[in-house]
Amino acid sequence: MKIDTIVLGAGIVGTSIALNLLERGRSVVLVDRRGPGEETSYGNAGLVERASIYPTAFPRSLKALLDVALGRNPGANYHWNALPGLAPWLFDYWRASAPARILDYARIMDTLLVHTVTEHQRLAAASDAEHFFREGGWLKLYRTADGLAQEREEFPLARRYGLTASEISVDDALELEPFLRPVFTGAAMWSDPHSVSSPGGVTQAYAAHFARSGGRLMRGDALTLARLGSGWSVATEEGSFEAPEAVVALGPWAMDVLRPFGVRLPLQVKRGYHMHYRTEGNAGLSRPVLDEEGGYVITPMLGGIRLTTGVEFARRDAPKTPVQLTATEILARELFPLGDRAEPEPWMGSRPAFPDMLPVIGPAPGQKGLWLAIGHQHLGFTLGPITGRLLADMMDGRTPVVDPAPFAATRF
Ligand SMILES: Cc1cc2nc3c(=O)[nH]c(=O)nc-3n(C[C@H](O)[C@H](O)[C@H](O)COP(=O)(O)OP(=O)(O)OC[C@H]3O[C@@H](n4cnc5c(N)ncnc54)[C@H](O)[C@@H]3O)c2cc1C
Repeated sequence: MKIDTIVLGAGIVGTSIALNLLERGRSVVLVDRRGPGEETSYGNAGLVERASIYPTAFPRSLKALLDVALGRNPGANYHWNALPGLAPWLFDYWRASAPARILDYARIMDTLLVHTVTEHQRLAAASDAEHFFREGGWLKLYRTADGLAQEREEFPLARRYGLTASEISVDDALELEPFLRPVFTGAAMWSDPHSVSSPGGVTQAYAAHFARSGGRLMRGDALTLARLGSGWSVATEEGSFEAPEAVVALGPWAMDVLRPFGVRLPLQVKRGYHMHYRTEGNAGLSRPVLDEEGGYVITPMLGGIRLTTGVEFARRDAPKTPVQLTATEILARELFPLGDRAEPEPWMGSRPAFPDMLPVIGPAPGQKGLWLAIGHQHLGFTLGPITGRLLADMMDGRTPVVDPAPFAATRF
């Protein structure tokens, strides 16, 4: 079957791209080996993190590094055997985390972030998915004066970018979230982010809207992607599709498909875990809450309170080692009346990440008609819809909504 565009990967990124291209009149097939939104886009903390001008940077102080190395930071874990292979990537990540480069990151990322809430709202309205979304920002809690002092340092830059971030008292935090216990000494409220009660549900709603509107949603293996004349083909359960253009939006699996075509990019993964909990009595939360020194986020979701962990450096396919979940659950129980675990096994997923913390959005070097939308690291749920709009602009030859130059694959 001949169509205009093949999109590989039905996570939030690929689904948003497919929907944007369909809206512009293209015939599009969206291919995934699973259902839409069942992988990384299912398991995240559900934040539309409009205010994330500060990246999740590599620790720069010796103390912070030692805390990670010695297992004293519940927000981070690593597998010894993954470190040799990761070393060059980690070095580049460390360099990209220098204070001056963080300012560049903020300037570049804000060009995308400024559109994240509105682009989600646009897709959500079209997809009957607005009921998943809530305003109310997110609350960051600090157990130590040092932690709060570091947080305060972020406010001036945030204000320069028009964001609303302010320190609030413990009492004010408890008024916002009355079921929290005062095990923290300070708090900050970031009002601009939105959040959702089911990131997988949102992605599925966008994909269902795509299918209802004439898009073709197919099961198939992206590893069957092949060059066909000047275009591309992919095999699905309902036959092969051929198109002049194809998009790789395969999140943590992108390099499996790209490497055989000679596309070399430094994509690694930062793994993370989640677990849902019932609550004691009538306890509840009305927004995501970050326990900064505790190294976890708790978010109210349809499936219960979802506790998501920080970063684990390990091989993508290595067996689960949910030690961070074990450690953070103890801290989360101090903070909030969590009940029983609602699932037998922790969920694990992988944040696809480049060392400079920016995604790649644009053409694949040396591969005519092949486009990339990968490496959205900690912010893929946030950035999916604006990535879809930006890539569709580029593919259509329109003036792009955002300057795509900083996201080019050729920067590596
Ligand atoms: C613990 C945790 C918390 C997070 N919290 C947040 C948050 O609060 N806010 C935020 O913005 N981001 C968050 N993120 C990051 C975010 O979840 C990811 O950046 C985002 O989901 C990536 O989306 P994606 O579409 O690129 O990848 P995915 O959602 O992983 O989609 C890739 C798709 O490719 C498919 N696929 C893979 N291989 C093949 C193949 N061979 N053939 C066919 N299909 C294939 C998969 O089945 C999958 O559906 C978090 C991540 C984690 C792990």
